[in-house]
Formats: sequence, C-alpha cells, structure tokens
Amino acid sequence: MKVKSQAAERRLNAGRVETKPRSSILDPRSSALIPHPSLSGLSNSTLTRLAKLGVATRFDLVLHLPLRYDDETRLYPINQAPHGESVLVEGRVVECDVKYRPKRQLVCHIEDGSGVLTLRFLNFYMSQLKQLAAGTHLRVFGEIRHGFFGDEMVHPRYRVVRGDTPVAKALTPVYPTTAGLGQEALRRLIERALADCDLSDTLSETVRAPLKLPRFRDAVLFLHNPPPRVAQGELQERRHPAWRRIKFDELLAQQLSMRLHYKRRRAAGAPALKPRGELTRALLAKLPFQLTRAQHKALAQIRHDLAQPYPMQRLLQGDVGSGKTIVAALAALQCVENGSQVAVMAPTEILAEQHYHKFAAWLADLGVSVTWLTGSLRSREKRQALAGVAAGEAMIAVGTHALFQEEVEFHNLALAIIDEQHRFGVHQRLALRMKGARPNMGAQPHQMMMSATPIPRTLAMSYYADLDVSVIDELPPGRTPVATRLVAEARRGEVIQRIRDACIAGSQAYWVCPLIEESEALQLKTALQTYEGLQRTFPELKVGLVHGRLKSEEKARVMQAFQGGAIQLLVATTVIEVGVDVPNATLMVIEHAERMGLSQLHQLRGRVGRGAGKSTCILLYQNPLTAAARERLKIIFENHDGFEVARHDLRLRGPGELLGARQSGVPLLRFADLARDTDLLEAARATAATMLREHPAAVRAHVARWLGERHEYLKV
Ligand code: ADP
Ligand code: MG
Repeated sequence: MKVKSQAAERRLNAGRVETKPRSSILDPRSSALIPHPSLSGLSNSTLTRLAKLGVATRFDLVLHLPLRYDDETRLYPINQAPHGESVLVEGRVVECDVKYRPKRQLVCHIEDGSGVLTLRFLNFYMSQLKQLAAGTHLRVFGEIRHGFFGDEMVHPRYRVVRGDTPVAKALTPVYPTTAGLGQEALRRLIERALADCDLSDTLSETVRAPLKLPRFRDAVLFLHNPPPRVAQGELQERRHPAWRRIKFDELLAQQLSMRLHYKRRRAAGAPALKPRGELTRALLAKLPFQLTRAQHKALAQIRHDLAQPYPMQRLLQGDVGSGKTIVAALAALQCVENGSQVAVMAPTEILAEQHYHKFAAWLADLGVSVTWLTGSLRSREKRQALAGVAAGEAMIAVGTHALFQEEVEFHNLALAIIDEQHRFGVHQRLALRMKGARPNMGAQPHQMMMSATPIPRTLAMSYYADLDVSVIDELPPGRTPVATRLVAEARRGEVIQRIRDACIAGSQAYWVCPLIEESEALQLKTALQTYEGLQRTFPELKVGLVHGRLKSEEKARVMQAFQGGAIQLLVATTVIEVGVDVPNATLMVIEHAERMGLSQLHQLRGRVGRGAGKSTCILLYQNPLTAAARERLKIIFENHDGFEVARHDLRLRGPGELLGARQSGVPLLRFADLARDTDLLEAARATAATMLREHPAAVRAHVARWLGERHEYLKV
C-alpha cells in the first residue's frame, strides 16, 4: 500500500500535464458495469458496526475517506518536538509506576538522550505496568504539553519497538469510526477493499483533463495513504485534486441519477393540453391587475409544458407575495379548456380553504366548477364532493392531503398543482400522481409544484436537477418593502401602542405566538393565554384566535372574519406561516422571534406587505440571545430578498434541513459542499448532459459505482 501511494502521487502529478484528449467519456479500459462486491467473510458484529458507518459493500469502504491524518513519518528528538500538534517521539522507559495523587494513574517516564518525557494514563490495565517496564523501548504519538513536572503526554498512542523499527512512509489516515471498531482494524479492511475492488475509471481523459482531475484509482489511493510532506491544509480543506475528483464524481452521480429519473417520468405519456385561450383570456380580462413580466414568463413556460404529450415536472418558485396563485389558476384553466380535471393541493386547511375561495371567486362566473375537499368535511358534504369529482362535474378540486386519499377518484385528472411543495413528503406527491395514472395507457397527470422557499441557485441545480424550474423573480408593482424592527421583550409596551394606533387607523395586525417545539400542548396553552391577555389589553379592538387545533369550520370562520375586517387583531400560531393573504394587514408582531428559523421568519413576515400600505414586522426577542439567534435576527433584519435569506439559511443549516421533506429519496451529498464547490457542480451538470446523450455505458457504470441500489429509491 505504502509503495503504491507514492506511485499514486507520481501519477497524480503526471496526470496534470499529460493531456491527450480522447473522444470517449468512458475510459476504454473500464468495465461497463462495476459490480459492488459484498462484504463476505466478516463477522456479524463487524458488519453491524460497519453498517453504522454507512458501509454496506466493499466499495463503500473505498469511499470511507479519512477525517484527517496523523503524521507518524517523522521521529522527533524529545527536546525538539513542536508543541500544539501531535508528534512521534521514541525513548527508553526510565521508570513506570502507579501514582495516587492527584488521582490514581499510571505514570511513565521515557528519555531519548535529548530529554525526558512523562506519559500519563488515567485509564489503564495493570498489565500495562509490566508492558512498560524500565528498559523497554517505546514509540509514542501524541501532543506534548508543559505540565507542572515538565513535558508530558496524556494518553498517547504507543507501541513497543526495537531500536531500528522504520517509521511510516505515508501519513496515517484517521477514519470516522464507531465503538468497537478500532482504527487499525478499519485500516486493514479498507486496505483490502482497495486491493480487491475495481477502481478503473468511469471518466475519460476528455473529461478529466480540463478539470485537472486525477484518475479515480489514483485519487482514492492517495487519500487513503498520502505520502509524507503533502500539504496537509489542501487535504484538510478538501481542495486537493484528489478530493476534487471524489467530489466531482459524487456530484456527477447525483446529476446523472436525477436526470435519469426525469427522463423516466417523461417517458410516461400525458394528455397534451393545448392552450385554447377562451377561459384564460376571460380570467385575465377581469383581473384588477396586470401580470408582471416574471409571471408572464413563468406562465408561458407552463403553457408550453402542458401542451406536450408527456408529463410536466415543473417547480414554480417565487418569493412570498410574488403572485404564484394566479399563475396556478391560469394553468388550471388551460387544463379545463381541454375538458380535463385539476387537483390543487395545499399543506394546511387554512391555505387550502383560502385557495378554494380565490379560485371560486375568479372562476365561478366563467362557468368552471370548483370543489372543496378536506378531511374534516361532514360525511354528506364529502360524499357529494367525491361524487362530483368522480363524475367529472367538478373541474377543479381544491384541498389538503385529503385529495390523494384512496377514496378520492378523479374522472380525468390531467394536472396536479401542489402549493408549498416542500411541506409534502415524497410519498404524498407520488400518491397524487398515481390518481391520474391510467395504467393501460401509461399516462400521468402534469405536475406543477410551487414553493415560496426560495432555493439558492446551487441547491436548485443540485437537488432539483430532476425538475424544470420557473422563477418569479419580481414582486407586483406598488409594494413597499416591509420594515423590520427588532424589539426587546422589555419594550413590549411600545409595541402594544403601535398596534392600537394601526388598528384605530383602519389597518389590521397579526400577533404570532411563540413557537414551542418541545410540546404542542404547551404551545396551545401559550396561544390561549396570549389571546386572553391581548383581549384584556385591547378592550376596544376585535381580537381573534387561530391555531392548528381549532376545528376547521371554526378556523375558516375566524379567517373569513379577519379577511373581511371584522377581526382587527389576529392572534395566531405559526399555522399562518404559509400562504395566508390579507392585504389590509400591515402590522405583524412575532413573539420570541429568536426561537424561529430564518425561512420561517421570512415566511411569516411575508404575510404583511401584501397591499399598497406601508407594513411593519416587529420581532420581539427575549434577552439574553445565543450567538446563533443573534445572527439569525441580524440576517432577517438586513435582508428582504427571500433568495438572500435562503442563501444564509443554507450556510447556517446545510441542505438537509433546508430541503425538508424532499430530502428523503434524494441522495444527500457527503463530500461536495454546495457553497464552495460551485465550479464542480456546474461542470458535473454539463458532463452529465453529454454523458447521457453519448455514453450510456459510462452513465450506468458511474451511477452503479456511486449509488448502487440507492438509485432505485429515487422515484418521485
Ligand atoms: P404567493 O406567491 O406568495 O402565493 P399570492 O399568489 O398569494 O402570492 O399573491 C399575493 C397577492 O398579490 C395576492 O393578493 C394577489 O392577488 C396579488 N397579485 C398577484 N399578482 C399580481 C400582480 N401582477 N399585480 C398586482 N397584484 C398581484
Ligand atoms: Mg402562495
């Protein structure tokens, strides 16, 4: 291994100058399909431990890359060894004893002619006393510190050696591991895997050369056994070409896999819904506003997709208040013009109901029937709604996830619109798509997803590579940005006065109750108390309360009263976070804003500033603030653009959190970092397109190597 790694280094360097472009992307020497050898011959307990590390095949061991390296290639004289880093020294044991002060410990002194070093072991076996007997030659690895009694190492790694035992030729990899599986054992397993696995390349010179990427084999051998005196910084920060090769491969596998799924879904047929225009023109004519340029552009893309004989798979992104709903309604009409049904699904009852009212108001006098379908309907109403949907009388069904329950049967569903898609799980979306699937024809409904959680470009390029994306990147004209105020809880009184002034002047306000993640019951209790308290504070105002536990009729009644102006101050839990649209509400107070996440704050704040009036969002916070909370509040205070907020969110939380439900089924990145490896991501995307077009064998080999069976799980 060690000899090999030096050869690897030479090849790595050679790889950078030797550029003989070949036309094929697949390395001609590579086998077309790389099977994943299993981990045969290991004990069950080892297999269990490996599984904890995410290692299921021999090849997973190849990709089990070191966290860092110990440099045991240099032996220091004790008096010259640097402090502040781990070092290797060697010496003869002068004395070894169990001491009882300050507490029981094994203390051993070694000397090498240059100096004396104390080794301390707080946990030890009595057998070590014998092992470390005076006169024994020891090689120890650890960090030297100045102790009260001179230089010492606490719990060093040590080995009994003869005087002439050679030092390591490569840096010693330190792997992520788990209890019961030592570094030595893991190293041996990995060494064997490196020898047994097919490490041939899935990328040809043509791809590698311009990106200055080494061969796969050279990259993994190098990372598992880098030669001494390599720049550790480059390795640690994963900027070394060997690391870049691994990250590129990972990103490429993700791109390939997602594009393959995109292509597979596209292979299913879908009804081609031609834009006939009668209904859409009629709706546009009666709107009190003009669509923005961005809305027009997104709509044109959607119209085009719907007219194709394969299913649309489009995500419509737009910041809160950018006007996605009307775009959805216009898309729905193109479907209705063709005599087909539309399902519009929202994650909360409040939002679904609001969509229902909007669609009904827009479409009723165009003769388009809109039906409301939710889990909490009375059984007679529900039967009626279901019958209408099944008979094809209801052209548009709006509802919550009740829409994709088994009892719901559509007559001819051709378009599924999913609002706030990140709130839904993969399975729920799949279920809705199956509603429209006609098994004998293989047809599927078109799918349009909407999201107000703007996703940074790199994240969209990566995790949404299996969708087409339209972006509404401007707000309707005449909106004044929401002014954000940070106010300490101690100044609550001033906030109360502001609400009173605003409501007396004819505006409306939201009061968002604190989020209590640990307990829903406590959250509810707090909401009720806040409501009662504010009712007492504002005897002259109509105060309402809405929370997740309210019966849906009650919820609807409160929301309508607020919409109509009968309620002036609405006390709410975060159920109003998504979608709610009441343009006359211009003031929002968020209690304990320091507990909320960035995107949640941005969504909440988006509930105001929806009309022409000047709006304010007051973030009440409780001192003392943690550093993280302070940073979040600063970001939300300074940024109004949802994309900027999302970029910060990605930086603070990473993609897993940001993507929410979507992450299940999508391969998360282990090595690449979307904030830093943008160039590799762009390159991987371009390479994936070429490979899919021209080199299907290389695609299969690469996906099999990186994703193996996992690829199969990515279905939605
Ligand atoms: P979101 O994208 O957050 O779902 P909505 O669709 O709820 O936003 O739209 C926010 C508000 O803006 C609604 O009251 C809607 O009627 C209004 N609106 C949408 N498009 C325009 C436009 N082009 N000009 C003016 N107002 C618009
Ligand atoms: Mg919306």
